[in-house]
Amino acid sequence: MRAGHQDVRARTSCHRALEHSVMTTAVVVGGGPNGLAAAALLAKAGLEVTLLEAAAEVGGGTRSEEALLPGLLHDHCSAVHPLAVGSPVLRELDVERHGLRWLLPEVDCVHPLDDGTAGVLRRSVTETARGLGADAGRYRALLRASALRWDDLACDVMGPLLRVPDHPMLLARFGPPTLLPAEVLARLFRTPQARALWGGVAAHAFRPLSEPLSSAIGLGILTGGHAAGWAVAEGGSGAVARALERVLRAHGGEVRTGVRVTDRARIPKADVTLLDLDPGQVAALYGDLLPARVRAAYGRFRRGPAAFKLDLAVEGGVPWTAEAARRAGTVHLGGTFAEVAYAEREVAAGRMPDRPFTLVGQQYLADSSRSVGDVHPVWTYAHVPHGYDGDAREAVLRQIERFAPGVRDRIVGLRVTRPADFAAANPNFAGGDILTGAKTPLRLLLGPRAALDPYATGIPGVFLCSAATPPGPGAHGMCGAGAAEAALRHLAAGPRGTGRRTRA
Ligand SMILES: Cc1cc2nc3c(=O)[nH]c(=O)nc-3n(C[C@H](O)[C@H](O)[C@H](O)COP(=O)(O)OP(=O)(O)OC[C@H]3O[C@@H](n4cnc5c(N)ncnc54)[C@H](O)[C@@H]3O)c2cc1C
Repeated sequence: MRAGHQDVRARTSCHRALEHSVMTTAVVVGGGPNGLAAAALLAKAGLEVTLLEAAAEVGGGTRSEEALLPGLLHDHCSAVHPLAVGSPVLRELDVERHGLRWLLPEVDCVHPLDDGTAGVLRRSVTETARGLGADAGRYRALLRASALRWDDLACDVMGPLLRVPDHPMLLARFGPPTLLPAEVLARLFRTPQARALWGGVAAHAFRPLSEPLSSAIGLGILTGGHAAGWAVAEGGSGAVARALERVLRAHGGEVRTGVRVTDRARIPKADVTLLDLDPGQVAALYGDLLPARVRAAYGRFRRGPAAFKLDLAVEGGVPWTAEAARRAGTVHLGGTFAEVAYAEREVAAGRMPDRPFTLVGQQYLADSSRSVGDVHPVWTYAHVPHGYDGDAREAVLRQIERFAPGVRDRIVGLRVTRPADFAAANPNFAGGDILTGAKTPLRLLLGPRAALDPYATGIPGVFLCSAATPPGPGAHGMCGAGAAEAALRHLAAGPRGTGRRTRA
């Protein structure tokens, strides 16, 4: 066991060096990518860290399993990682030295249309632009400068937005288009291929594309993706969690799995407590201690739409009509921009569209170790209304068949994960809301409540670190990094400047 107080110089994710005297113990509840990143950063900073995880293994939304056939490896949730691969905190924690290897598909993402053409997203802005014909110049103008400087920009956009940016000029260039509704930004493009490609990427926000700031997540993904690629983890997305766990253990951290915390009394006393939980669970655990305004804000926490997922075993791969889709790690299915916008609007309004926006992951194209002979794991999910309890299986298969006739004859295995299954496996995904909260404009900017520190719960020493906080969903670990930074600042300051320790 390490000594009580110690001077620690913590280099956090975005290189804000913090020098302070810290207390020594931290507990992290929840071992998703954010909980793991927070725990690893705190352990690296010298704290004695214990992580409690409900499931039998850590990872949360970043796990993989042989769901259908021995050796055929499916990603349970996160699959493709344009924001994780260049994530400042994953770099800071040197996850690649701890076993994580990123692999890139030949083509990042394809959005096919009914006439057999497609919008094709490649790693290079220039090559992508070249494929977009009349929209080449506009695409380049929108993305090139920001993609070139993503490493600097990432620290400013992948953290709380209410703070002084490190690179204000870069942010001044990147920021204004993110404020626009995706529908308005789509008007920049003339070709149906460019418009559809943009619509599919913007739809990752799970919001009506007419809403202000509905461009933000899409522009972040495009910019990060052009800088680092739409990478998959070798051996499945679970490798991201395993690497983070190794970093944590290498710095002396302890991981206890199979511990579902439903009572605050089960959380060991510590100087700081970080919660990789949705605000609803935090309110249930700490309701009597939360300041009234925070309790009210967490009580108002709104959930977003849901995912309905199929894992497929496909012999010979998916026979896409659009040739580029056969080489793409990700395929977006939804037809034209207008169709995608309609489907997202319906889903947000609680109605199931006939043709839901559907994502397909072909991670095996970059990582052949996931296949068994000529049988390949195909990951696919559709956006459906929050809490949807119908069967979207046919709707998903119809969307795939629309752009890949004959696919059904190649499917040799299928597993369904419904919204209720996601919620049962992980309370953070209540109602099948895989983004841990509706990413409305305000929530995207501020996190679960309006406060300068979106990670603070109002209870001294207790912080929220899940995807409910900025910068939001993804396996990038940056919510955990923001919360760890807030916890270190709290320790450095001491409660109300007294220098005394608090034990939450
Ligand atoms: C179908 C699907 C597809 C996705 N695709 C992608 C993608 O391609 N790329 C990408 O970057 N992201 C993707 N995501 C999103 C990504 O998985 C999440 O945003 C990310 O996992 C959030 O990380 P987190 O650490 O905040 O929480 P989580 O991953 O939700 O982890 C929380 C952890 O806390 C544990 N826990 C919860 N409650 C308790 C409790 N009371 N006590 C103890 N432990 C508890 C849970 O078991 C879980 O392990 C996808 C998600 C889903 C479901």
